[in-house]
Amino acid sequence: MKYVLSLDQGTTSSRAIIFDQQGIARSKVQKELRQIYPQPGWVEHDPELIWRSQVECARRAITKARLSPSDIVAIGITNQRETTIVWDRRNGQPVHNAIVWQDRRTADCCEKLKRDGLTDLIQSRTGLVPDPYFSATKIAWILDSIPGLRMHAERGELAFGTVDTWLAWKLSNGALHVTDVSNASRTMLFDIHRGQWDADLLEIFGIPESMLPTVRPSAFLYGRSAAKILGAEIPIAGIAGDQQAALFGQACHAPGMAKNTYGTGCFMLLNTGNHAIPSRNGLITTCAASISSSKQQFALEGSVFNAGAVIQWLRDGLRLIPTTPAVEKLAASVQDSGDVFLVPAFTGLGAPYWDPLARGTLIGLTRGTTGAHIARAALESIAYQSTDLLQCMQRDAGIRIKELRVDGGASTNTLLMQFQADLLGVAVSRPYITETTALGAAYLAGLTTGYWKNRASIARQWKIEARFEPRMTRAEVDERMHRWRAAVERSRNWAINQ
Ligand code: ADP
Repeated sequence: MKYVLSLDQGTTSSRAIIFDQQGIARSKVQKELRQIYPQPGWVEHDPELIWRSQVECARRAITKARLSPSDIVAIGITNQRETTIVWDRRNGQPVHNAIVWQDRRTADCCEKLKRDGLTDLIQSRTGLVPDPYFSATKIAWILDSIPGLRMHAERGELAFGTVDTWLAWKLSNGALHVTDVSNASRTMLFDIHRGQWDADLLEIFGIPESMLPTVRPSAFLYGRSAAKILGAEIPIAGIAGDQQAALFGQACHAPGMAKNTYGTGCFMLLNTGNHAIPSRNGLITTCAASISSSKQQFALEGSVFNAGAVIQWLRDGLRLIPTTPAVEKLAASVQDSGDVFLVPAFTGLGAPYWDPLARGTLIGLTRGTTGAHIARAALESIAYQSTDLLQCMQRDAGIRIKELRVDGGASTNTLLMQFQADLLGVAVSRPYITETTALGAAYLAGLTTGYWKNRASIARQWKIEARFEPRMTRAEVDERMHRWRAAVERSRNWAINQ
């Protein structure tokens, strides 16, 4: 028997999972990653720690599955996206800590881009909106932060990479400087229509092209890991950013298929096939994981900032529940939220409202309101926000989805999933294997090396564990969405000057 090793380098942990040909996990190892907060709004990781934790997980996963390194036929990499690392090509030393996607230090720079009228150019080339989230302004910040660094960059001595690129570099002992289209499309430097780095944007940000990795399809034989790393030279054969890997792992291969990941936040992606559809609602157009350079697939992407985080707040902030899963029982102890709405705009609101000054709002309280109503309103807020997103996507793409595939920690909550199906008016399907991110990267690597034959054979492995059919009448849904939007209006424009 042979296996595929998936490296899943996330924001809070590194994980390695070994999959067999049925897509079943044979072993899993996870290691927490230290978060560094140098100043309010700044978030960093130590690149060496990212690497060490990831390689340690990989080695332990092989041992735990009682395999020898030669039993692994391919490595797939999936990663936290946008996080930016710059290192010296000559010695492989990072010149700065990794600047994490959540980091807001370049907010002023992005405001300036907007004032300079660059929003349209950026959106039309990259599918993104100017925001500190993406890599471009983070690279420019690093180059400006250390005297003389730009000169080294211009001499071709520095390399930039997102976390996938850094891991491929380290795995290959410095032989590979590569990335895939899905990661490239999150840098704000990549022309998603032409599939190449954009010279105009590189000039705007003052980034020499020599710093950038070679961009390949997501399923591609990038190279091999150096023998000393894992004990064998193993093909590195798949790379994709975490959300695109999850879309692939959910077998959403055809246009019109969508997945939503219910974690701390929610990430929803809709496959739009070979059309890069610009959003009129502030969503992002992004490259989906691709299996060939001639057939780029695109996706519309939207995120909810606070989803599972609301349940954490019930537990840690309000102390309403002892554990997160306990929310389901409490919420189910009442028939409905009693017309109580919780708008969890703790950090402002994203699509389609885009209001950084909105703040959390609990409305509709009466003397009869109990903790159970609040728990139910909190849970429902996750579904309301996801419904807002999906409705935007459907409007932008001009299509109606037939099913939403779900994963992530909060997707285990049956009450939430049923309410989600009710609001959307489409079935919500939860697969047996919810490790869709790691599985997506494994599938990409296994397709490249012939371990799996084609996408159809992968799609056959996707099996429903639970399917939630909509049961609410349209009139009731419309009434609830109307009340939700009224509650959202009350939450807006509250914070002062932030
Ligand atoms: P992340 O990858 O963002 O850390 P996970 O996919 O591990 O997220 O999911 C964790 C999130 O899911 C937490 O925010 C937690 O509050 C939420 N969560 C976990 N179990 C439940 C549950 N049964 N009901 C509602 N939310 C849950």
